[in-house]
Parts: sequence; structure tokens; C-alpha cells
Amino acid sequence: MRTVKRKALPPNAKKQTDLEGLCQAYTREKQRWLQHFQCWKRQPYLERPRTLRDEMVKQGYRSPNQLQARHWKLALNDAAETWDKYWQSIFVKVRLKISHQQVNPAYGSQSCPFCEFVDSRNRKGDRFQCLHCGHENASDRIAAQNYARRFGDPKDRAVYASPPSKNHSFR
Ligand SMILES: [Zn+2]
Repeated sequence: MRTVKRKALPPNAKKQTDLEGLCQAYTREKQRWLQHFQCWKRQPYLERPRTLRDEMVKQGYRSPNQLQARHWKLALNDAAETWDKYWQSIFVKVRLKISHQQVNPAYGSQSCPFCEFVDSRNRKGDRFQCLHCGHENASDRIAAQNYARRFGDPKDRAVYASPPSKNHSFR
């Protein structure tokens, strides 16, 4: 068998610039979705980016970066994944901290990290929605936020010292 050495084709300049343009547009689009998810109202969509995608399609979303639907959808998923990784890293940090430092776990997933309203009804299973301000997120994220906030908070013990009532479950 004889191997034929092929001569490399000269780079297609037009294709090259098109690709670079697409990459830049994708980066801007992903940035846009990262910011989009920053709003707490959209955090619940992190578990189901497909729903958000479908809603955007229904609303006739057009990418401001002139991306085709298949491309902005990828950017949206990518951004949701990045957010998910961010939360995972927070969980890891909080768990590490908890194992090294005593943190009062009371009301971890019942307190609102925004307005500090505490009520057992704020939490329904793995969902959290503040009955006072409407802040909404997954309850484990809420708990992580609350614990992170309590690290190094000297008032923590005083404020959360009251023993939990028997019919409440704490994580
Ligand atoms: Zn609240």
C-alpha cells in the first residue's frame, strides 16, 4: 500500500473569517444568557433550560448577535451548565466549611437569603419560594446561600439560637 501525501489546501480566508465571527458572536450570546440567568426569577430554569428555550422560541426570540436558532440554543444550554457548575462549587465549599466550622443549621432552607423572612412554608420539597418577597430557587441552593452568609457572622448564634420546633425538619 502506498500512502499518498496530500498537499495541504490553502486556507479558505472567507470561511476562516466566518468561523471566527461565529465564535465571537457565540461568546457574546453566552455572556448574554449568563447575565440572563443572574436574575433570580430565572434561576429555577437552570434545571430545565429546554423549557426556557421553548418559551423564547414562542416569544419569537431573535439573537441580537444574529445567531441562528441552533446556535443561540447551544449558547443558552452552555450558560445554564456554567451556572450549574457555579452552584456545585458553592455546595462543595459550603460542605467543606461545615465540616470545619460549627454552623447553626437551623432554618437553612426556610429563610429567604434576600429579605431574611423565615417560614417553614417557604420551602416545598426541593423548591423554595419566599412567601414575603417571592424569591425563588432550588432549596439546596437557598440553604447553601444561607450557610455561606452565616459563616463568620457572630450574630448567627444569637439570632438562630432558638431551638427548632418539633414539627419542622431541618437540613
Ligand atoms: Zn424573601
